[in-house]
Amino acid sequence: MHFTEFNFHPGLQEGIEASNYETATPVQEQVIPAILAGKDLIASAQTGTGKTAAFLLPIINRLLEKETSGYVRALIIVPTRELAIQIAQHVEGLSYFTSISSLAVYGGSDAQNFVGEKKALQMGADIIICTPGRLIAHLNMGYVSIKGLQFLVLDEADRMLDMGFSDDINRIIAQLPRKRQTLLFSATMPSKIRKLAQQILTNPVEINIAISRPPEKIIQKAFLVHEPQKIPLIKYLLTRKPYKRVLVFCSRKRNVKLLTKTLKQNGLKVEEMHSDLTQSQREDVLAGFTSGRIPLLVATDILSRGIDIDTIDLVINYDVPRDGEDYVHRIGRTARAEADGMAYTLVGEKEQNSFFAIEKLINKEIEKAKLPEFLGPAPAWRSPNKNNHTPFKKHSAGYKKRRS
Ligand code: AMP
Repeated sequence: MHFTEFNFHPGLQEGIEASNYETATPVQEQVIPAILAGKDLIASAQTGTGKTAAFLLPIINRLLEKETSGYVRALIIVPTRELAIQIAQHVEGLSYFTSISSLAVYGGSDAQNFVGEKKALQMGADIIICTPGRLIAHLNMGYVSIKGLQFLVLDEADRMLDMGFSDDINRIIAQLPRKRQTLLFSATMPSKIRKLAQQILTNPVEINIAISRPPEKIIQKAFLVHEPQKIPLIKYLLTRKPYKRVLVFCSRKRNVKLLTKTLKQNGLKVEEMHSDLTQSQREDVLAGFTSGRIPLLVATDILSRGIDIDTIDLVINYDVPRDGEDYVHRIGRTARAEADGMAYTLVGEKEQNSFFAIEKLINKEIEKAKLPEFLGPAPAWRSPNKNNHTPFKKHSAGYKKRRS
């Protein structure tokens, strides 16, 4: 589903485009309409599924329907300071072309930050992303403008309970207006989460996105590359060994077409598969691939789910799939039945966040392979903990001045 189909506020749509989001992930397809319809929600969704944007987009859109009130209007409670900063950057990127203001409030920061947070909480930043303890410290001082709260989000709720935040969360909730929309996200659904949900949610919509994991026998490797190195690297990988059947995935049709054309020019027997083909063209290509007439196929995610061909021995990701589930589905095309399989992922410098999110999702560190020397120097891997989701140069996660 394309994001334009949600008819979001134009400023928000601009932020979505600037973030390079085109189509909604499965979690987003289910969560966004429920939130827009004003429902409470409990969703089991892990990092890497696009869950953050799934709740941020409808919240921002709903907040834009009304003038800013001078109250905090959405409160997002998270277990760690890193997650608070990451979500604040996400908010800032998505709401960049709107009047929405936001602030990350987290423990461990200095006294000066506390003063800045106090000011923003008094003035009523639209969206506050906070860790429980630090918010309580502010709430206890009595100046937080919380009367107009419309949304409460508990993100990674299972982790918060595991970290012993249960009492803090109850104390915060006791101070919030009863009439509000509450959204609870949790990777797992143990009974203590169900109990919490019963206490704080009203007739919630329940969304369960089961995460599959790739089979252990798939050998997964990743190359960090500069964009212009991608096509030469694919040519190299394809000619290193004789493969019977290879599938290359690209997120965009444009790249599928460009890559297919270049590989053809290099004498490779290759076809393309994407949504611009007619149904009969698609069937023809798929039949050729299944029969072995076409040994190499470049495709969009149109082909990442559902095709069942047992002997694909190599899957190459030309780019990092935007949704972690797509990664699992893409590489799951290889090593089916008894066969072994290889999966290479080409990670552009700017795709590292999405790549680390995938590693988190599948709970596995993917081997980082060395780029062949003749392709020139590769970029250096960043630390997985340093997140930056903003598509813009640099913004602090602090209080954002209102734009008129
Ligand atoms: P999350 O599961 O919220 O941690 O998101 C994982 C990664 O996917 C983040 O880097 C997001 O910026 C990115 N992302 C979320 N939704 C989309 C989308 N619809 N298209 C492309 N990337 C997305």
